[in-house]
Amino acid sequence: MARVIVKTDAVVLRTMRMGETSKLVTLFSEKHGKLKVMAKGARKPKSKYGGCLEITNEIHVVCYLRDDRDLQTLSDAEVVRTHPQLLTDLTRLAFAGAASEMLDRLTIEHEPNERLYACLLGILRGLEEVSSQQLESLFWYFQLRVAASLGYRPELSACTNCGCELELEASWFSPALGGGVCQSCSREAAADGADAFSSGGTTIFGTTTRRVSGESLRFLALLQSMRTYTRQDLPPAPPRRGEIRGMLRSFLEYHAGATGRLRSLEFLDALGPYQPPDQEAAVNDED
Ligand SMILES: [Zn+2]
Repeated sequence: MARVIVKTDAVVLRTMRMGETSKLVTLFSEKHGKLKVMAKGARKPKSKYGGCLEITNEIHVVCYLRDDRDLQTLSDAEVVRTHPQLLTDLTRLAFAGAASEMLDRLTIEHEPNERLYACLLGILRGLEEVSSQQLESLFWYFQLRVAASLGYRPELSACTNCGCELELEASWFSPALGGGVCQSCSREAAADGADAFSSGGTTIFGTTTRRVSGESLRFLALLQSMRTYTRQDLPPAPPRRGEIRGMLRSFLEYHAGATGRLRSLEFLDALGPYQPPDQEAAVNDED
């Protein structure tokens, strides 16, 4: 039975209690992609792992991987970097948790993807640095990078049906077609019998499609065009947040296939509707 010792950097995506004293730890590793490892004795008071196996921690691990079983064994782990700022801010922590859960849901084990690993490090570090107005933009940036790293980059500038440039006023968005659909293609589809002009989601070209504003498409296209960002140039999230959340979520859920709904993104709705910065300031002034 083949058994290999693996040494790699990894991020802790989630942990679960196992038995009396152990933990089941889901890691996303640099060299081997997602790994589920059993950390024996990790919940004993004097465990050698200490506080190492906590969500969002960047760690270096030694594991025994065997090809005859799903569950692998953790042999050693040490902390490379922690993210203390995330642990003291509930909103930032919620974004970090959602990013972790997304990677867990969108990947399968033992499939290395160094771009995805870089995305994960990028968002954990970015969530500590950006302003609160930029948090959601950063998260959208991450979702776009994750989609591209998994091989399904959404088309946000040109119509996925005819290739024309998408109009500024409004367009349509179809996860199954891979992105935006222009007005005239949706009109033609409507003439073919689909009710393409109802206000909610509808079906054209046999796929679920929703009407979206040109602003939302342009904002996402801008984020997608940024190869990297700094705290200075990452734009704050615009007012139409619900629309962009819905676009990205439906796109990732569609392409995640059988794994279904991304519950990790539901916390965004609990953050409530967007308040423009001046209103937030007004609320703060009353304190
Ligand atoms: Zn078109």
